[in-house]
Amino acid sequence: MRESLVKILACPVCKSSLSLVTKEIEDDEIVSGVLHCPSCDHDYLIENTIPNLLPPEKE
Ligand SMILES: [Zn+2]
Repeated sequence: MRESLVKILACPVCKSSLSLVTKEIEDDEIVSGVLHCPSCDHDYLIENTIPNLLPPEKE
């Protein structure tokens, strides 16, 4: 995903904006990293350029 996308992404649970912890960038694309929601204290992983914004599973 492009880094500029972070601005329009929001936490699926609380709709807060996410902070990006980038681990790997290649050709202006974030290949892997973490999107962190400060409200939920939950990390959403970016893997192979795809952000996984599924809500955390609750049982
Ligand atoms: Zn949240």
